[in-house]
Amino acid sequence: MITCKDFLRELNDFLDETTDPVLRAELERHINECPNCWVICDTTKKTIQVYKGMEAQNLPEPVHERLMSMIAKKKPGCCGGGDTH
Ligand SMILES: [Zn+2]
Repeated sequence: MITCKDFLRELNDFLDETTDPVLRAELERHINECPNCWVICDTTKKTIQVYKGMEAQNLPEPVHERLMSMIAKKKPGCCGGGDTH
């Protein structure tokens, strides 16, 4: 039985398609049953696609660095702080 914690730990590998097929099936079943993890998975997948898209275009370093800092500024500490409002 996969828990949300297990899912999040395996998420990178899952999206990288290097996960063991059995584990992968378990993770897929989890996102079908858990809307929370489905959203996390979907968001992460889209983020990775953006990064991969940037790589594919072979951006010159300065542009790449500027984009990275723009992205960093757009998402100020989304996971940190502990200020849950
Ligand atoms: Zn979950």
